Amino acid sequence: MKDKVLRGITDNKFIRFFAVNSTATVQEAVDLHNLSITSSVLLGRLISGALMMGMDLKSTNDSLTLKIDGDGPIGKALVTANRVGEVKGYVNNPQAELPINKDTNTIDVKTAVGNGTLTIIKDLGMKNPYMGQVEIKYGTIAKDLTYYFVASEQVPSSVGLGVLIEPDGSIRQSGGFIVQLMPDTPEKVITQLETNLAKFPNLTDVMDMGFSIEKIIKKFILKGFKPEFLEEINAEYKCSCSYKKFENGLKLLSKAELQEAIEKDEELVVHCHFCNKDYKYGKTKIEKILETM
Ligand code: ZN
Repeated sequence: MKDKVLRGITDNKFIRFFAVNSTATVQEAVDLHNLSITSSVLLGRLISGALMMGMDLKSTNDSLTLKIDGDGPIGKALVTANRVGEVKGYVNNPQAELPINKDTNTIDVKTAVGNGTLTIIKDLGMKNPYMGQVEIKYGTIAKDLTYYFVASEQVPSSVGLGVLIEPDGSIRQSGGFIVQLMPDTPEKVITQLETNLAKFPNLTDVMDMGFSIEKIIKKFILKGFKPEFLEEINAEYKCSCSYKKFENGLKLLSKAELQEAIEKDEELVVHCHFCNKDYKYGKTKIEKILETM
């Protein structure tokens, strides 16, 4: 089954929503980076969040990045998604692992991340990208994004993100939702939504019962409202790196440095953090780069 992201609005136009099933996409990230269970949960939540926020971009060339800078064992993580459901990311310490909290049967993502910041970067094709930043207060990512929406974008929101993982580390379910209130939403609507959210059990548990993300929106999150589904796109892990793209990086070296590599018959290797591919530039390729400098 293909992963998907969807967005919509209630027929009364007071609540807009996004939802994502990112199970296969997160599995792909886990395989690609050989992630620990803790890293899988963190990166999975970031992937779901970025896919939904990416769908809120205007142009297909725009991109949205969620970046974690923390002082915990995982340290840093970064995920970038675009408007068409393509997402990629990495964590700095993919093997970092914390014991599962036996009482709650959850992964302590907060401790794994530590203290630090969550940065939201929107590259909208302008000279400078939009950047918002909040301190990591909660460490669940979902609550931190909720706080970001309220504090930085002044949009009352509720974000849910979940990754359900098998003991062997494979991804059983991964998904998320965002609901946001439009200006001047009546108190009655807010109360109903709050009641729905308070009653809603764990997202991935409900997905695991066989509910699709549409059904979860209709039957639980927006119960009592009439959600209109406006758009649905496929989601996938995709890195668009290439020899051509990394050439630009090599052009930051001086001509002398490139010439030296040729003379010493050295291969220049560029590593892509997003997909773990190595790009090797030998004599012929370096000569070609030099021609364009
Ligand atoms: Zn790549």
